Amino acid sequence: MATAVYPGSFDPVTRGHLDIIKRAAKINDQLIVAVLINSAKNPLFTVEERVALLRECCKDIPNVTVESFDGLTVEFAKKRHASVMVRGLRAVTDFENEIQLAQTNHALMPGIETMFLATSIKWSYLSSTIVKEAARYGSNISKFVTPNVENAIHAKVEQLRADVKEQEEHSRESHKRIWSHNDEQDKQINEHEKKLTEHEGRIRNLERRH
Ligand code: ADP
Repeated sequence: MATAVYPGSFDPVTRGHLDIIKRAAKINDQLIVAVLINSAKNPLFTVEERVALLRECCKDIPNVTVESFDGLTVEFAKKRHASVMVRGLRAVTDFENEIQLAQTNHALMPGIETMFLATSIKWSYLSSTIVKEAARYGSNISKFVTPNVENAIHAKVEQLRADVKEQEEHSRESHKRIWSHNDEQDKQINEHEKKLTEHEGRIRNLERRH
């Protein structure tokens, strides 16, 4: 029995992640769910939001804590005196990347072992990306995530829609401003040209008289 770290993006946590968390918590003394801060992906939730959602989901599992971390996962695990790194394997498609990660981590920190848990068949198709995509198209996502996460996703999707609408409104307004500004400039140019023609006419009249 040991302290284990379960790292990931958790953007947001799904019932698939929770299945792994519950099973990993049973076979380790302590489990630290670690949310990666500097993920290259473009996340829907901030790190603080992801941590808060995970904490709410794990509040009834006494040996699970949730933290965020930056940098190398093995360094974080070492700092927390963890000897196990937990990862979930859904399908062969996960395997290539996961084995590479595990081998790199082992080369960097031989004292930390990666433990793979095979995803329950029930959740083998599930990913945070799919849940977000389904929510965007208005599907019912209650099967895939807990109610707190479901509400948070809907609120985010609504917020994003409102932001896009506001941006569209803003760019429509600035287009209008540019066009009316151009109209005003055209008017001024026309007036100048009219005055110029009048002046030229007067000059020609004077020249004729002299
Ligand atoms: P990462 O960006 O590290 O892949 P994720 O949050 O997508 O972060 O996943 C974290 C871990 O959880 C990974 O080991 C991944 O394989 C596992 N995982 C993701 N989805 C599921 C699922 N539906 N069932 C079980 N494990 C999963």
